[in-house]
Amino acid sequence: MTDATHVLKAPETFFIDGAWVAPSGNKKITVVSPVTEMPAMEYPEAAPADVDRAVKAARAAFDTGPWPRMTRAERALVLRRTADELDARIERIAQDWTAQMGAPIMIGRMLAPQSAQIFRFYADLLDGEDFSFVDERIRPDGGRTLISREPVGVCATITPWNAAMVLLSYKIAAGLAAGCTFVSKPSPETPLEGYVLAECLELAGLPAGVFNLVPGGAEIGEYLVRHPDIDKVAFTGSTAAGKKIGAICAERMARVTLELGGKSAAIMLDDADFVAAMPTLAAFSMPNSGQVCFALTRILVPEARAEEFTKLFVETVSRFKIGNPNDPEVFFGPLSKLAQHEKVQRYIETGKAEGATLVLGGGRPDHMDKGYFIAPTVFTDVTSDMTIAQEEIFGPVVSIMTYRDEDEAVEIANASSYGLSGAIYSADTDRAFKVAQRIRTGNLTINGNIVDPTMPIGGFKQSGWGREGGIEGMNSYLEAKTISFA
Ligand code: NAD
Repeated sequence: MTDATHVLKAPETFFIDGAWVAPSGNKKITVVSPVTEMPAMEYPEAAPADVDRAVKAARAAFDTGPWPRMTRAERALVLRRTADELDARIERIAQDWTAQMGAPIMIGRMLAPQSAQIFRFYADLLDGEDFSFVDERIRPDGGRTLISREPVGVCATITPWNAAMVLLSYKIAAGLAAGCTFVSKPSPETPLEGYVLAECLELAGLPAGVFNLVPGGAEIGEYLVRHPDIDKVAFTGSTAAGKKIGAICAERMARVTLELGGKSAAIMLDDADFVAAMPTLAAFSMPNSGQVCFALTRILVPEARAEEFTKLFVETVSRFKIGNPNDPEVFFGPLSKLAQHEKVQRYIETGKAEGATLVLGGGRPDHMDKGYFIAPTVFTDVTSDMTIAQEEIFGPVVSIMTYRDEDEAVEIANASSYGLSGAIYSADTDRAFKVAQRIRTGNLTINGNIVDPTMPIGGFKQSGWGREGGIEGMNSYLEAKTISFA
């Protein structure tokens, strides 16, 4: 057991214009522990006046401050120092995450170092030669044109609770490298990651006003998105909220990137080694109790091997250690909040009512009488027209679906309005690659599950717009300006 009594330190201030400032209003948000179901922390919510102040600071920092005008080496230095500060806080980041939303500390400790890696990746990009802010091209008429890539401006970030630190880091590190300034609104369930990052950026010497933090719920988030001085919104969250935010941005042509939901498929080709696949497949079918956007929630198996697969998969997920997420041996914790617990239960009932066969789980694990727990749940006899095959459940519910041949497997995988992630398991990696090319999704792994922050991540279809991570992630914070010499 780690520090099961890790006490959340409730913030009392916001971070605006390089200072820790008192809230202008007196609204509060309560974070409820998903393990004890009791209030764990109460902290102030930003009011419109706080957002106005934060946007004004970010605007001034962009329009007249030093950050967008610094050399790339100077910006890289601040990013590197931020990474060092983040590294010094890995255990705090992991423990805060566990205490706020119940992610197992085992997963928190695996994920927490990624934030520093992201900051270092963009620092390396600035210091290296793989990326250029100005490219020269020769026109067909023989003349010279320069393509100058310039920061898009003042950016707002809106992030969810399910991987708060890493999702915020993707945005801030890439945008800072590009020369942008920020106002960030974390999710109401997990505000602390924003505070840790603000602290690290301040210690790293980021100029005042470049990063501002105003915590709050959806309403204050929408106020920020509507703010006329915000040039770009970087959003991660549900497809429903993403559509709304995209529409608001379109009204004034603000730039927007959207990282949204998923209903990703793992295709087990008929030559796949199921035993070898199990460790990665089982873990990524319901990571963080299924509260991960790229979870492989539909598993497509050849009809002839369906029985063999189901037996093995059910045995494997049944062995997950479920319990208090502070226990370093626990892989499977509670859902993040009561509303999530209720929503997942509703989907399980819908699955049964629509004719799918429940072969494992379906409710609270016997030994957990408190906390928002739902046991690993597996359905078979699932078809693409069922709700549980179409909608993102964001809980530990996996649908096993069968196919007759490769074409049908591709058809089922693509029969989704989402297209975020996926996996192909096969003994023949060339064959798997060809199948991967036919799947309409943004990120796929052959024989495993790789999510590497130095590579672009993002969605096809209703899973999003744009990419985060890698060079592509920085491009979304830049505008291309064409300067030709006549
Ligand atoms: P959510 O959409 O309810 O909320 C996300 C954030 O948006 C929160 O900070 C919330 O306060 C804010 N928000 C909600 N409505 C808003 C509005 N109208 N205007 C401005 N801000 C608004 O999502 P959630 O429940 O916090 O997170 C889970 C969702 O996030 C899932 O759908 C999951 O797939 C998705 N997600 C996607 C990725 C990805 O990379 N594609 C990664 C993680 C999570």
